[in-house]
Amino acid sequence: MAKIYYKTSYEQETQIDIRTWLCGLFKVCEMCENTDNSVHISHRNTAYINDSQNYASFCESCRKEDNEYYQELWNDYNSNIIAGLYG
Ligand SMILES: [Zn+2]
Repeated sequence: MAKIYYKTSYEQETQIDIRTWLCGLFKVCEMCENTDNSVHISHRNTAYINDSQNYASFCESCRKEDNEYYQELWNDYNSNIIAGLYG
């Protein structure tokens, strides 16, 4: 997918999908596709090597859902690492 340069809140430049950028501009959620004033480009609770996948334009409830989904995966991942270290 086409990418566009985007300046993060940490003043770093990264590339995001043009879809994410347009959805942020027009306030359309990428997940539920509703138009909502809470839609904005934000960093997800992910650590993809392809950095553009770490950004999305979600409404508040989809952002929360996405964040909680990945938090559960992180918790499993972290407890597996700890179990591997001390198991
Ligand atoms: Zn949504």
